[in-house]
Amino acid sequence: MVELVPTICPYCSCGCGFYLVVKDGRIVGEEPWKAHPLNEGANCIKGRRAFKFLYREDRLKKPLIREGGRLREASWAEALDLAAERLKEFKGNSFGLIASGRGTNEDCYILQKFARVVMKTNNIDYCARFCHSTTVAGLLPSVGSGVMQTSITDLELADCFILFGVNVKETFPLISRRILRARRRGAKVIAVDPRRTPTARYLADIHLQLKPGSDVALINGMMKAILEEGKENREFIRARTSGFEGLRDYLASLSWESVEGATGISRELIKEAALLYAGAERGCILYDEGITQHWVGGDNVRNLANLALITGHIGRPGTGVNSMRGQINGEGAGDMGCVNVFYPGFQRVGDETAKRFEELWGVEGLPREPGFTYLDIIGKCRAVYIVGANPMVAAPDINNIRSLLENLDLLIVQDIFLTETAELAHIVFPAATWVEREGTHTWIDRRVQKVEKVIEPPGEAKPDWWITCEIARRMGYGDKFSFSSPEEIFEEIRRAVPQYRGITYARLKKPGGIQWPCPSEDHPGTPTMFTERFNTPDGKGQIQPVEYKPPAEAPDDEYPFYLTTGRLIFHYHTGTMTRRTDDLHNEIPECFVEINPKDAERNGIKEGERVRVETRRGGLELPARVTDEVPEGVLFIPFHFGDKPANLLTNPALDPGARMPEFKVCAARLIKGG
Ligand code: SF4
Repeated sequence: MVELVPTICPYCSCGCGFYLVVKDGRIVGEEPWKAHPLNEGANCIKGRRAFKFLYREDRLKKPLIREGGRLREASWAEALDLAAERLKEFKGNSFGLIASGRGTNEDCYILQKFARVVMKTNNIDYCARFCHSTTVAGLLPSVGSGVMQTSITDLELADCFILFGVNVKETFPLISRRILRARRRGAKVIAVDPRRTPTARYLADIHLQLKPGSDVALINGMMKAILEEGKENREFIRARTSGFEGLRDYLASLSWESVEGATGISRELIKEAALLYAGAERGCILYDEGITQHWVGGDNVRNLANLALITGHIGRPGTGVNSMRGQINGEGAGDMGCVNVFYPGFQRVGDETAKRFEELWGVEGLPREPGFTYLDIIGKCRAVYIVGANPMVAAPDINNIRSLLENLDLLIVQDIFLTETAELAHIVFPAATWVEREGTHTWIDRRVQKVEKVIEPPGEAKPDWWITCEIARRMGYGDKFSFSSPEEIFEEIRRAVPQYRGITYARLKKPGGIQWPCPSEDHPGTPTMFTERFNTPDGKGQIQPVEYKPPAEAPDDEYPFYLTTGRLIFHYHTGTMTRRTDDLHNEIPECFVEINPKDAERNGIKEGERVRVETRRGGLELPARVTDEVPEGVLFIPFHFGDKPANLLTNPALDPGARMPEFKVCAARLIKGG
């Protein structure tokens, strides 16, 4: 018998729906879901092949235990008993947990509860540390929340977009389609990127090709131009912001020469772009890792908020300063409290919050101090539990990460494949994928959607929430983790997370889901944030000048190039799924380095020739791709390839507030011949 079962794509956070074609309990194909409000039947190349990795032979099917230096298969009872027994040695600060923006809300909620209730620590973090922790650092003080402010479906209302450090055509293809539609109706698009990406080439009216790491200087230049021309929104500034005068005085003291020198862009082009945005009816800023993955990422985001606040392009549908989180549950994992400084619902770690959760969970002694972040968990804890994350590809300076992971007393990894990180573990648990268990995810625009179980997991693989609950039960916390279904967990989430209170499994049957905040069951959800007030103490947007600081590592005689890293349309994140999907893998089977034709000629390098790229942290031998996508003096390497990980080279210099590494820019050299 053939059935069509609706589901949501497991890749990027556009949240597209499609039907899975299921025959005799096996997925055999996909069909468009035309009525799905987010993608209306369209899917990108990854989405159309999303089920293919499920049936790979190398899926993890049984628990594994390290013995005599090798991983051997074990029964669930043996592996769970061992994990529980060993974990008892590591409570408090000697333990840390790294969760995933790919797990369900229910999985993530259970993980943070496990860290806090069983292990008595706030040492919990997830992959957003490496993509949007600086969003929180930048937007929290200015508007009170780091979430996407408009709705995907309202993007078409905008008449001017600034795509700041986001290559939407490759990384959010179905959002790019909405921008294209708006453009066909007359909207203007400004792309800001050091690379001439497909977005800059095919979608943009203006490309601001700034020097890597000069984002703050560029935004200051744009605001300076707006104020010089008197194009700020005075009524909005008066009614809804504070601190404008300080910014105005600071920008007046900046010289255009300093802006042009830092960015490499002429004042005329900066002015043209700035006035286009300021003069729009609805200006919309979308941004991603191009601006967040810097040691000054928090400053970058804060300055974007300044730009939106002085122009009044915020708090209405189709406007805002919108963070583009890349993972399907990048928003939800944060909402659930997989963050070192937040309990569920972004309730800040501290005495009051701990007391509230002690009452809700019926426990005592919950941790009250902020925990370690991602890199500190790996560097300072003795036992680490990693669920659905792969720092051996995703973290900066991988040689260092490897030695830290190899030296742990206990490393437990839970995943769907034996990833580069799982290979180093003492215990490995096989997990179910997105269609092998039910649950909810929260997509980029705070949209909670439900995904149904469609097929059985392979072998003995289990849902993540079940595995963690079983460990907790063996550690004496069975009564706090006695859930028998994801819906039971979701009911507890509704009590813990005020923003989710009105969302129920029954309400989520509606295609397109519900956007939080949704405070009651008769509330329709909230497509647009900050329509009346910001989430700041006085309800106003807080404007504050931001000073430009150059990248932590600049090119010099020894390392004369900028190296930047990023993503490709055919692959997803650390490649665990897409590199196991033949059609996608065959499109781009190996890593490469992009070199500008003039740099290639100067170094005698030809297209396809193998070269060596070195930074102060290591070197990689790669085929050269000679292209004017990168400007002179800049090299680009995609980061999806575990066998040639770009992050072997990247700089672990951290944003001091957000603890975000500077993935996006470091100094490098190029050696012909490898
Ligand atoms: Fe999946 Fe994103 Fe492609 Fe939509 S745009 S099909 S969510 S990968």
